[in-house]
Amino acid sequence: MNYGSLFYTFLHLDIATETTREDYQGPIHSLALTMPSNKSVSDAPIFQFTNCRILKDHKLQKEDLWVREGKILNPEKLFFDEKGSADIQIDCQNSLIAPGFIDTQINGGFGVDFSMAKDDVSSGISLVAQKILSHGVTSFCPTLVTSPSSVYHQVLPQICVADGGPHGAGILGVHLEGPFISSEKRGAHLERFLCSYEMGGFQNLLETYGCLDKVSIVTLAPEIKRSSEVITELIKRRICVSLGHSVANLSQAEEAVKHGATYITHLFNAMLPFHHRDPGIVGLLTSDQIPKGQTVFYGMIADGIHTNPAALRLAHLAHPKGLVLVTDAITAMGLAPGKHSLGQQVIEIEGLNAYVAGTKILAGSIATMDMCVRYFLEATGCTVESALEAASLHPAQVLGIQHRKGTLNYGADADFVLLDDYLNVRATYIAGNRVWTKDFCTL
Ligand SMILES: [Zn+2]
Repeated sequence: MNYGSLFYTFLHLDIATETTREDYQGPIHSLALTMPSNKSVSDAPIFQFTNCRILKDHKLQKEDLWVREGKILNPEKLFFDEKGSADIQIDCQNSLIAPGFIDTQINGGFGVDFSMAKDDVSSGISLVAQKILSHGVTSFCPTLVTSPSSVYHQVLPQICVADGGPHGAGILGVHLEGPFISSEKRGAHLERFLCSYEMGGFQNLLETYGCLDKVSIVTLAPEIKRSSEVITELIKRRICVSLGHSVANLSQAEEAVKHGATYITHLFNAMLPFHHRDPGIVGLLTSDQIPKGQTVFYGMIADGIHTNPAALRLAHLAHPKGLVLVTDAITAMGLAPGKHSLGQQVIEIEGLNAYVAGTKILAGSIATMDMCVRYFLEATGCTVESALEAASLHPAQVLGIQHRKGTLNYGADADFVLLDDYLNVRATYIAGNRVWTKDFCTL
């Protein structure tokens, strides 16, 4: 007997008639009689999310999502090996289900600035972690902008890499943006705190940051002398190296990639503009010098302000699999217009723009991740799948955690977001538990 085809027949019937699984107890049970004995692997409740389209294998598919013990469950194994069935069915009311969004660059929000040295950094991070659940973000990398060494020494030990839950999105490690960046392309970073590692190499970096245990991404300018050895040391420690705030030419950028750099921080912003004879860091998107099997990813702030939609389209067309949506959100995200602090300085919010106060220098965005996903979709005309993967699969790949985050593959963490057809967030789930929902929504 071909159990596989029976299974798919079962799925097909389920889709075609929207009938609950209980109607199929007969066939499943009769099958079970012919199957070898196999005890259930767990007594934990099994959740079946029905009436949905799930993002899987790069396609939205009309399929149910099964969850047990915080992981995506393979229903085929459940039916045929364990003879199990759903304990709880959840009608998703024709929602899309995508992997939870992952923000690899977020400086703060809701009045909190992660770079401000405080004795109690964790409460600020917890607040942001909780609030961004409503944006569909299930995990993130708190980002520290260029700061005095004392700030790193005070703040880093207080940050915990931790799983998400009803208390907030998970923390995947810290993104340190600076201080080893170009003075010319420092943007909103304060010049007096910029550093180099010309003298002591990696030791300089260690002394500046203090400890790298909680760090997942370091943004640096690869033209700084001794970058190659620093990049090599960071990669050894499984820290992602991102190129940014830099005047590097293309060959310097390629050299950094050959040493293990895999990410570009907010493409186009704070780097040399594209030039046909030397396209600089931007040229990595179409370089033929990328080592085989390696992908260069690039963050983009798709808020309609930091990047012109034509540039967004250009990057996406050139290298769609590398595009990673980031918010680069600052303390004022979620707050009213006016003056707010960012790191050691004051920024001013006008509409959707955030400037260094008294200037027209962009200081980071106040966009939310779900807004960026919608804007990216609209601006590029890409598929819904591409827009969703740019906020989920690709950032997970940047961090090397795609086996557990950023997908709905069997065995992955059950972190996901329910969306309507316009990609508005209806509910957010972490480890299979609903952690946020719209008031009027019963999902
Ligand atoms: Zn930046």
